[in-house]
Amino acid sequence: MSTDIIKNINVNDVSKDIYELTTELYPICRSITGNGVRKTLSLIEKHIPLTIHEVESGTKVFDWTVPKEWNIRDAYIKNSQGEKIVDFQKCNLHVVNYSIPINQKISLDELKQHLFTLPDRPEWVPYRTSYYKENWGFCLSYNQFLQLEEDEYEVYIDSSLEDGHLTYGEYYIPGEKTDEVLITCHTCHPSLANDNIAGISLGTFLAKYLSQLSLTYSYRFLFIPGTIGSITWLALNEANVDKIKHGLVVTCIGDSGKSHYKKSRRGNAEIDKAVIHVLKEFGSEHEILEFSPYGYDERQFCSPGFNLPVGCFMRSPHGTYPQYHTSADNLDLVQPEYIADSLAKFLSVLQILEHNKKYINQNPKCEPQLGKRGLYSAIGGLTDTKKTEMAMLWVLNMSDGENSLLDISEKSGLEFDLIKNTAATLLEFDLLK
Ligand code: ZN
Repeated sequence: MSTDIIKNINVNDVSKDIYELTTELYPICRSITGNGVRKTLSLIEKHIPLTIHEVESGTKVFDWTVPKEWNIRDAYIKNSQGEKIVDFQKCNLHVVNYSIPINQKISLDELKQHLFTLPDRPEWVPYRTSYYKENWGFCLSYNQFLQLEEDEYEVYIDSSLEDGHLTYGEYYIPGEKTDEVLITCHTCHPSLANDNIAGISLGTFLAKYLSQLSLTYSYRFLFIPGTIGSITWLALNEANVDKIKHGLVVTCIGDSGKSHYKKSRRGNAEIDKAVIHVLKEFGSEHEILEFSPYGYDERQFCSPGFNLPVGCFMRSPHGTYPQYHTSADNLDLVQPEYIADSLAKFLSVLQILEHNKKYINQNPKCEPQLGKRGLYSAIGGLTDTKKTEMAMLWVLNMSDGENSLLDISEKSGLEFDLIKNTAATLLEFDLLK
């Protein structure tokens, strides 16, 4: 029997831990490969035991190739007075991620070819990458950019782009069944708190918590770089993906925006129904998005050759909040209270998956006499006896082996937890099997 997932956790305390880990991970300059990812995984390993995979550059993964490994030590732009006007040490977003090494003196015109700014957000530094085209560049605030004068500039990037590895972390929690719930987050973004350090941290503490419970499903957590990481994982694990019965991509879970859920490609998978049910039951404003072949790693898990039941769980979706992919996606944007709300919803989803069983009424010809069997007092602690009775009637009536407890909750409008607890009692009284 699976543990009650909601009852055994203090969501506010765990959310503070998630925020603290987010703070620890924030300064690290991550990318799709390299030591930033390794450092990140080593901090996660203080909480959960990870299996670290190192996949060699050049490895063919479906239509893609694992890229060269990128590492960076330092970078700056100096003016002719020798002043550092842009400094990687102050903010790792200043360097275009995957920039090749450079050490040159150039004119302002030449420099401008390699600069990226956000004129409509003049105080923020944008986040840019150049993974699959060898290039170099700097990102700076538009205000900094406006101050640049005609001069000779020294551009210096102490990076390396060479054969190495793509690194990712995996944690498997065995349950009663080998059927799996997949929970995955991307580890490739540098100092961007909502996208996706808070998601990485939530994944870590969720895994730590679940590992202490007795569970029906087995759980697989992936800490992988976006796109190339999921493609690599799918290529290496193709033979086992049919074990994945439900999956969620976790991203952008710490900002103040309302919850969003992007459905799997299937659109009516149990995970889709469970998340939609939870968002409705919580009552706060939320939005359900149809599947589209753009976004996070659900794109790969839901590609037609796999078509796995994997949706995407988030607050503000990518590209819809102004701080997205800028230096303003920082430790002020994410807050423990929003993390707590996301975590509570996430746990409720897992609660449904773990307990969403189908039963058969053992007394299907007319209603059983509930009072005679002492069933009213059996569901003690519930003051609302009318509601309790309704839950019993709904569970008994719909338990024909076809309807799951989630179906009954949906149809009756009663909370999933009440339906679950009612079914447990009816089972005890031999009215269900
Ligand atoms: Zn992103």
